[in-house]
Amino acid sequence: MSNSFIPYGRQDIDDKDIESVVKVLKSSFLTQGPMVEKFEEEVSNKVNSAYSLAFNSATSALHVACLALGLKAGDNLWTTPITFVASANCGIYCGAKIDFVDIDPKTGLICTKELTKKLELAKTKNKLPKIVIPVHLAGTSCEMEEIYKLSKKYGFAIIEDASHAIGGSYKNSPVGNCDYSDITVFSLHPVKIITSGEGGIATTNNKSLDEKMKYLRSHGITKEKENFHKKNEGQWYYEQQVLGYNYRMSDIHAALGSSQLTRLSLFIQTRKKIIEDYKNDTEKLPITFLEVPKGVESAYHLAIIRLDNRDDIFHRKIFDCLRSNNIGVQLHYTPVHLQPYYRNLGFTQGDFPEAESYSKNAISLPIYPSLSKKDYERVIDQLKYCLS
Ligand SMILES: *Cc1c(COP(=O)(O)O)cnc(C)c1O
Repeated sequence: MSNSFIPYGRQDIDDKDIESVVKVLKSSFLTQGPMVEKFEEEVSNKVNSAYSLAFNSATSALHVACLALGLKAGDNLWTTPITFVASANCGIYCGAKIDFVDIDPKTGLICTKELTKKLELAKTKNKLPKIVIPVHLAGTSCEMEEIYKLSKKYGFAIIEDASHAIGGSYKNSPVGNCDYSDITVFSLHPVKIITSGEGGIATTNNKSLDEKMKYLRSHGITKEKENFHKKNEGQWYYEQQVLGYNYRMSDIHAALGSSQLTRLSLFIQTRKKIIEDYKNDTEKLPITFLEVPKGVESAYHLAIIRLDNRDDIFHRKIFDCLRSNNIGVQLHYTPVHLQPYYRNLGFTQGDFPEAESYSKNAISLPIYPSLSKKDYERVIDQLKYCLS
């Protein structure tokens, strides 16, 4: 097995995780029961948020977050082109118009200067966004304080897409505490920092947003008497007041998430060590790692390098060379605006030059807590070989 495929990321499941899930399987609640509530409370404690809600995916959480913030047909939602498609699709689900803000090439994150320029222009055209979704690519927080100031000046809401960033921090506070946003969303997909199988979390400090998201997560139904439109109904009664979905997390998934959460800081320490090793062991190679700005502790979800050679044929060659040697490199991401679906909406090559040039020389190297020393060395050897 010396040449087995090394993926760019994978989950880390131990016996305690398995025990935790089995315990739920033997209990009375399989779907939303005591484990979901327990897990939500643990996440709130971990990231210092007043509220936290578990969903069956981050995509569902993003959708509901947009709805809770009142996003509707004709509204504008902005995000970055260097993200997973879900960060933009959530706006489309609500009938909103999507636009993008180009990235800072050093960090790969939404560029605050570009955002400022674009907002100024949008103001003159009366096309300001209702929501902006900064994405903490690779686990590194965006410049949230600056984006927050802009939100006050131009009147938009902020959803942090922190799918990569649970366990990371910004200015000494945990990502997810919503100091500079309305809602933060984490993903618990197996390739992310911690997993629940499939799953997502939305955190907020706003009681009304928490309530709205709770209803939207479960068909728009309320079971709380004091909120009923009709009073004095029987014990059987519940009310659907808005159109919601079935986006709930099950207790089975929450049990895994809760158990994984206990190892969050361990996972991040291990990831950080791998990145540091990569940087030391590739010092002489013609590659550059994405920067983590001062004041930010990344969750190190991805080990993204950019090839110093900016030629896209070279990029393809290095990528193919590594893959053919079973190094599971990946590209995070193809710019969303160049996906066929978004091209059909009118986006085209040249719209966001920094994002496009990034996608022509970025490569994600394998990084996950159980990456063995031997596999790590194979990555380094193959990288040296392919680049020579
Ligand atoms: C993974 C991911 C999502 C979607 O997460 P799911 O839990 O799979 O729905 C959204 N945004 C980003 C940036 C992601 O990486």
